[in-house]
Formats: sequence, structure tokens, C-alpha cells
Amino acid sequence: MIHSFSNFKIFRHCQRKWFYESKVWCTNTKDPFRQKVIMLSNLETINAFRGQVVDYTISKHVVESLNKRKSADLKEALAFAKDIFDKRRKFAEAKMYKDFSIKKTANEERYAALIELEFGGGLSESDWEKAWCDVETSLTNLIENHEVMSVLKSANFIKSQLTLNFKHDDTSVRCVPDLVAFFRKEPPLIIDWKVHFAGHRSYIDQLLLYAYALKECKHLDTFNQYLVSHDILNFRLLEYQLLKNVPRHYEISPLLLENTKVRLSDEIFKLKKAGADQDYDSLKIENFDTTFNEEDCLNCPFQKLCSNDN
Ligand code: SF4
Repeated sequence: MIHSFSNFKIFRHCQRKWFYESKVWCTNTKDPFRQKVIMLSNLETINAFRGQVVDYTISKHVVESLNKRKSADLKEALAFAKDIFDKRRKFAEAKMYKDFSIKKTANEERYAALIELEFGGGLSESDWEKAWCDVETSLTNLIENHEVMSVLKSANFIKSQLTLNFKHDDTSVRCVPDLVAFFRKEPPLIIDWKVHFAGHRSYIDQLLLYAYALKECKHLDTFNQYLVSHDILNFRLLEYQLLKNVPRHYEISPLLLENTKVRLSDEIFKLKKAGADQDYDSLKIENFDTTFNEEDCLNCPFQKLCSNDN
């Protein structure tokens, strides 16, 4: 079992969805039911789609420019994002995700599968225009934010989507922060960005877990030189609501850190109690409850599987 923040979030909302994504999903199978779950698990809403385009553009274009000591150019970033947006739109509209031989990992630039196109009433041209407008706004807000960009420019190295694996209570935990900026003299900066309309909720718990993961992770040979001399309590945390252009800085206190460890132990206990460390074949789907909140189902890729149960 590998525990993660997002994995437990799914478990909290709907145990059945967690079962599909964590136990039925696997990398290689000929079982038609499992193949269907894998195909469905790639479906996302148009809102998630635009967030993914923003993530990909920051990771592959903005961060790469900054690491080459070049300024992030807004016009170039938007052109990069538009190309990805159009390729993914084309792929989703042609429903190419139904071809099981096309792997998402090997087709990152163009792969997309949309819930609205699979189950809903489709997407209008204005839905696509709105999604693009949100991508444009989010990237513009980031690149024109002098405070955030100047900190990133002063970093010795920036790494996006850095996988951090560590053990807690003898269980593997995996965290993937959106971005970590490493500095020779200053503590690291961990950034989690969101492309949300509302943007009211705080994501401090997620960032605290990332800080704990960064300190505990033992395989960061390349980055250890930037971490050894810094106390975790000095790590900097930034949640950036890109669409609203609201950066939120958080500090780490001993109490918050202790609470993070306790919460993590509690989550692991709950997952193990539900059978998370058992194989798919030894678990029964009916032991994983469907959600009580029907709104969760509206944007869920597994809605047809669940409705077939009833
Ligand atoms: S459709 Fe609803 S009940 Fe089924 S997995 Fe999704 S959220 Fe859970």
C-alpha cells in the first residue's frame, strides 16, 4: 500500500471510488472490467482539464526556462499552453482514450479524456473558450506576479512534480508537490498551486505533509545539499490560487508538524482497517461504501459502474 494525500481525500469522500482507483486500477491487465476502470479513471471534468494544461505548462515551460536562467516569457508560455490545450481537446473530442493501446504516460502532450464528452451533454464552443480563458488568466497571474517570480528566479534549482517517497508507521507514503524551489543559503520553498473558481479553502494540511515528506525523503541525493542545513520549521510554504491571483504563505510550527504526523498515522490506520494493504483479489467491492453525497457522483468517472449496481 502506498499512502498519499489525494488518495486519502478520495477515500474520505467515497470508499467505492477509492477502491476503483487504488485496487481495481493496475498497470497491466487483460481483465475487461479492470481495463474499463483504467479507461474511466482517465476521465476528468473540463475544469480539471484546464488545470492540467496550466500544470503542464508551468512544469514543462515556465520551470524549464527559469532553470536555464531565462525569464519566463508570458507570450511564449501562452503559445505553449494553447498548443497543449488544442492537442488535448482534439484527442478528447475524437475519444482516442478508448484505444487501450494509447498509454497516457507515453502521450502526455495530447492525452485527455473528458467526462462531459463521455456522459454529459457535451461541451459548447463557449465552454471551451471559458476553459482557455481560465488557463490564460492563471498563467498571466503567475508570470506577472513579481513577488513570486523574483523568489523563483533567485532559486538555485526548481523542480516541479518532485516525487517524495518515505516511510511513516512502516507504511510507504508518496507526495508530489507542484513545485519545490531549492536555495543554497535559504530554506526550500514548497508551492502548491490551484486553479479553482472559489479558492476559499486553505490547503495548509497538504503543504505541511509535503514539508514533512521533503525532510523525511531519503532518495534526494541531488537536493540534499540544499536541505541538510535547514530545519523543517524554517521551510517555506506557499499555496497559490492562480485563478484568483491569491498567494497564501504558511509557517510551520512544532504543533502543526506534530498534528500532521498524528493525522497521517490516523489516515494510514483507517486505510489499513478497510483493507488497503490487501490485494484486489482478496477484497470485495461491496465492502466499500458508495458516497452519501450524490453531488460527488456528478463529476465522477465511475458513475456508470455505480449506476449499474443499482
Ligand atoms: S459514482 Fe458516486 S458512488 Fe460511484 S464511485 Fe463515483 S462518487 Fe462514488
